[in-house]
Amino acid sequence: MAKDNVDLICDIGELAGLFEKSQSLSDFLQSAVSIVAFHMRAAVCSIYLYDADHEELTLAATQGLNADGVGKVSLKLGEGIVGTAMKELRPICEGHGSLNPNFKPIEGIFEENYEAFLAVPILLRGVMRVGVLVAQDPQPNYFHKNDIKALRAISSQLAVVIENAKLLMSLHEAESNLPVEKIDEDEALKPTFIKGVTASSGVVRGTAVVLDGHGYDVLTAPADDSVIPPGMKDFEVALQESIAQLTFLQNRMEERLGDVASLIFNAHLLILKDEGFSGEMRKLIESGMAADRAVTSVVNDYIGLFSKSKNPRLQEKVLDVKDLGHRLLRNIQQHGEDQGDYAGQILIAKELLPSDVLKFAAQNVEGIVIVQGGVTAHISILARSLRVPMVFVENAAILDVDEGTLILIDANQGTLFMDPSDSVLKQYDSLVNRSEVERLSVTPETFTEDGTKIKLLCNVNLLSDIEFAIENKAEGIGLYRSEFPFIIRNEFPSEEAQRLIYERIYRGMPEKEVVLRTLDVGGDKKLPYHHHDEEANPFLGLRAIRFSLKNLGIFKQQLRAMLRAGVDRELKIMFPFISSVDDFLEAKKVMVECMHELEAEGTPYNGHPKVGLMVELPAAVEIIDELAQAADFFSIGTNDLIQYLLAVDRTNESVSSMYVCHHPAVLRSVYRIVNSAINNDVEVSVCGDMALNEDMLKFLIGIGVRKISIDPQQIPRVQAFLGGLHTEEARRHARKLLRFGSLREVNQYLAELEA
Ligand code: PEP
Ligand code: MG
Repeated sequence: MAKDNVDLICDIGELAGLFEKSQSLSDFLQSAVSIVAFHMRAAVCSIYLYDADHEELTLAATQGLNADGVGKVSLKLGEGIVGTAMKELRPICEGHGSLNPNFKPIEGIFEENYEAFLAVPILLRGVMRVGVLVAQDPQPNYFHKNDIKALRAISSQLAVVIENAKLLMSLHEAESNLPVEKIDEDEALKPTFIKGVTASSGVVRGTAVVLDGHGYDVLTAPADDSVIPPGMKDFEVALQESIAQLTFLQNRMEERLGDVASLIFNAHLLILKDEGFSGEMRKLIESGMAADRAVTSVVNDYIGLFSKSKNPRLQEKVLDVKDLGHRLLRNIQQHGEDQGDYAGQILIAKELLPSDVLKFAAQNVEGIVIVQGGVTAHISILARSLRVPMVFVENAAILDVDEGTLILIDANQGTLFMDPSDSVLKQYDSLVNRSEVERLSVTPETFTEDGTKIKLLCNVNLLSDIEFAIENKAEGIGLYRSEFPFIIRNEFPSEEAQRLIYERIYRGMPEKEVVLRTLDVGGDKKLPYHHHDEEANPFLGLRAIRFSLKNLGIFKQQLRAMLRAGVDRELKIMFPFISSVDDFLEAKKVMVECMHELEAEGTPYNGHPKVGLMVELPAAVEIIDELAQAADFFSIGTNDLIQYLLAVDRTNESVSSMYVCHHPAVLRSVYRIVNSAINNDVEVSVCGDMALNEDMLKFLIGIGVRKISIDPQQIPRVQAFLGGLHTEEARRHARKLLRFGSLREVNQYLAELEA
């Protein structure tokens, strides 16, 4: 029988499903080896786990070898084929394992019966030794290149699960019961109206849940007002309900957001199943403590331990633990009455990772308030894709709001009402209803009043954005931010997983223009599973194309996936953060190398991609004519161009008043870029948020921009605006703006226009 193809074996859903059904790590590993053996039609599949202290590998699970060897069979680093694969951090594939000089059959587990041998190291972040995944078969030369690829994809998934389980184990070894600060309730401030800025629009209301405060970060104990305190039975039911809810969430995420979902609730489930966690709660309940108190006590111990840990990966788990605590408490207090999610709630936090935003969105949070942050920061971009209203506020007093306080978020205006009056609520109800009636309709093409065609494309961050793009009749995708599947997952998506994502994008936009941007990580987009060196100024550091050129393996995998996905259609690849012609040519050279490799392998690919760049750095503006000679197209990234031209951090709310798109330096730079593109016959589009501002859109049309890429939900508004705009009027507007040398003059002119 033929082996299953790589796609099937790589299927994350299958591993996630296995994990959910498993009672422990060893149970999970055992299921994993069975399923891999099944898909590979291999007689044997085993996992060895690595102990760094003793530099030793131990058999942890096997399908096909003698199970008595589990936990007993050990190999030193460098010993046998398995030890060599671990030592040299590379897969070893032998048609005749017994001919390999390192082959060392282990007595008693019947290894000698299997000639074909494939050992793939399980590595975290590509370098940290976790273990070895091994497949064996009696038929010589049984394994091929595709099998290595498949095992590699699986082992990167396994690495994450094993790492999380190990983190928990190491936690138990740490000294426990660190003291935690208490909240002084009398000190809590109660603001009633807060002006912030919109990160993701919408009007919602809900009760407040504060995720982190000024360092105390504990779960608040429930009020002791129950007649009969909840006991062991309530706890067990709540625990099972929590597991079922998380499993449901994980599955739903995979259906809806397959590109980014990965094993996102994996840490939650692991902690829940951890004996030190639920077992400790049971012990406290047995000793007479009420179940809700026991949950609070253990959760707070964990929060204390996690937040004091020196290991940043453990620190990141604080939110997961607190979130779990909330879920367990809700389930104890109101069995089955809700899904244990954030429906009806507004989350308030000091800081969130992109993966947190995704988790809370999956748990139906109504809206999010973040203390500090900037609107073009990438968590805002993600919130917009997820349709979660989000507001940034400067005033940290909001972190002291009583949990359960009613909050109304008008994220269209960037305002918050704490405990709003009935009249405010009524006013908003009528506003929400009216805006639903007033939905703008869209047409497939966009023209100015005088008939000039403007191509309206959209920016896509998640595959789910494509639905909105189609609904709003986008003419294509002007910017696909390919980093989102990277920053939200728990590990690098394999070349195959990436190819599938890019293919799904193309399927959603047949016959239309699609621009795939290569990884833009760094800055405010860190990969949680990759070791990023500490940087004093990450926005000036190893970001985007610099990261890709430094991590050629990752870059090549992505380029190969793009070249393969675009095999039978127009392919446009764009490099972000280009600061020199040299960087651009270097990146292009890597792409050509990928083409040669694919050619040699006989893998189908697109051999004629159009290659462009993001113009988002002042340096690129200075050499724009030279870049125009080298590139097929430009896309102006105004979010970053403004940040770097004006030296204003786009994620820092306290300097947001200086982040102005109509600054003369910005206007003149954008003009220079567009002018150079037109003179050199290079396609140009604008994909930053500057195009959302009507005065600026008019300016862009006035200087000759005919292609705009924006969030899909903005298309109807922008189309309606352009429909009423005359290009001659736009040209006059642009000429006028370009003459001003000071912000004061620009402000005055724009204010006059409004009057
Ligand atoms: C930009 O910089 O304008 C842009 C569109 O890219 P990103 O927001 O992803 O940095
Ligand atoms: Mg950018």
